[in-house]
Amino acid sequence: MSPATIATVNPATGETVRTFAAHGEAEIEQRLQLAASAFPKWRRVPVAERARLVGRLADLLDAEKERLGAMMTLEMGKPIKAAVEEAAKCATACRWYAENSERLLQPRVVLQGDDWGEVVHQPLGPVLAVMPWNFPFWQVVRFLAPALTVGNVGLLKHASNVPQCALAIEDLCTRAGYPEGVFQTLLVGSEAVSKLLDDPRVVAATLTGSEGAGRSVGAAAGKNLKKTVLELGGSDPFIVMPSADVDKAAKTAVIARTINNGQSCIAAKRFIVHEKIAEEFTRRFVDGMKALKVGDPADSATQLGPLASQRLADDLDEQVKKTVAKGGKLLLGGSKPDGRGAFYPATVIADPPKGSPGADEELFGPVAVIFRARDVDDAIRIANDSPFGLGAAAWTRDDAEAKRFGNELEAGTVFINGMVSSDPRFPFGGVKRSGYGRELAAEGLYEFTNTKTIRSGGGITLAE
Ligand code: NAP
Repeated sequence: MSPATIATVNPATGETVRTFAAHGEAEIEQRLQLAASAFPKWRRVPVAERARLVGRLADLLDAEKERLGAMMTLEMGKPIKAAVEEAAKCATACRWYAENSERLLQPRVVLQGDDWGEVVHQPLGPVLAVMPWNFPFWQVVRFLAPALTVGNVGLLKHASNVPQCALAIEDLCTRAGYPEGVFQTLLVGSEAVSKLLDDPRVVAATLTGSEGAGRSVGAAAGKNLKKTVLELGGSDPFIVMPSADVDKAAKTAVIARTINNGQSCIAAKRFIVHEKIAEEFTRRFVDGMKALKVGDPADSATQLGPLASQRLADDLDEQVKKTVAKGGKLLLGGSKPDGRGAFYPATVIADPPKGSPGADEELFGPVAVIFRARDVDDAIRIANDSPFGLGAAAWTRDDAEAKRFGNELEAGTVFINGMVSSDPRFPFGGVKRSGYGRELAAEGLYEFTNTKTIRSGGGITLAE
């Protein structure tokens, strides 16, 4: 049973702004039928035309980024400047696929002449995308741009707290000119997902979200032998070695921890600092965290807004309290303020012991934990001593150390002297309990395809 209504609740005030009727069984059935009937026609549309439409989507995202940004801020509390930038980044990704898909989808000819052999990527069908609220446009666009351009059709089950964003994305696709049924939003709760995965018309699924959701979607899809991509949580290390520019590293660390009010899967979460510079880094970092301007996310000067819901603020507070109770040293913040809104202060905890949430779990909010490392081996050991493997950053001016970090950190993305970020030109995804599969770049285009080998004898040439 899906919830009867899905609501926009402003996390800065706790006020319910708007409610929507959730889709019932008849509506879901109608949308599934539409998706299934759209696919055979859509897959025959030439790649050049599909690429043109994703380019048109880019134009709309750019033109309407202020309106879309305000919608994100209202529904999940992202500071407005970052929200507008998110819409613009979506446009960049769409444009990347508009410009590169034809080239990337050319058949790869392996053998020529009498014994012809080529490899092609063909779409699979309707793909279900179960998406989170933290980047309500970006997470969806990085699925839809490659998946639709390769010829799949999309069904979006967005997070229940961002219904306006979910409907706006469907509307943008319609106005970009995508044929009916090629991209649809289902306004349903998470309870509806396993039934959707049982439906033979849904051929694959992608989920971006928590480990728990990953397990359920992976299990439901596995039972039906359906392909999945899982983009799950992270507890990214941010390593600082003595040769680094410590001031720059500390300033970047503040942004890397508090981006999106600390609710990013690739936010730096565990700061692993060489003992020689630990004191200096910690002082600069704590000062930077303390100086953040907290407030109304709709104010363009705000750097740290509320968490996306009161529940998230309560859960984070509990993780902080447990970490401190187990012996972590609280250097800043650490308790939920009174008053309305799901605000949580910038918080820093040093030396969280193993077995505490600060050491072992993802902290989804502006809470940083700092570990000391003796040397490069120790830094790599601490960084990899995590169930997650999404991103990692390391700061050093030593070539040999940089190479070791690049090679040995267990993560889908490693940045040296920078903070982890996603970019449509590079594949994105994780290892370990951060999930599997890749989004963005060529890998994202091929993820939901049948990589088909076609061999032909007797002088029949296939590729044009
Ligand atoms: P979440 O609670 O797992 O929700 C994500 C989506 O999954 C929502 O649409 C949610 O629907 C749905 N869902 C939740 N439980 C489900 C279940 N048992 N079966 C099927 N669907 C289910 O995650 P969140 O709190 O929104 O997002 C934060 C998490 O996402 C963090 O762990 C973060 O690190 C991760 N994340 C990962 C990436 C990445 O690329 N690796 C990117 C962003 C975020 P409802 O809203 O209706 O419950």
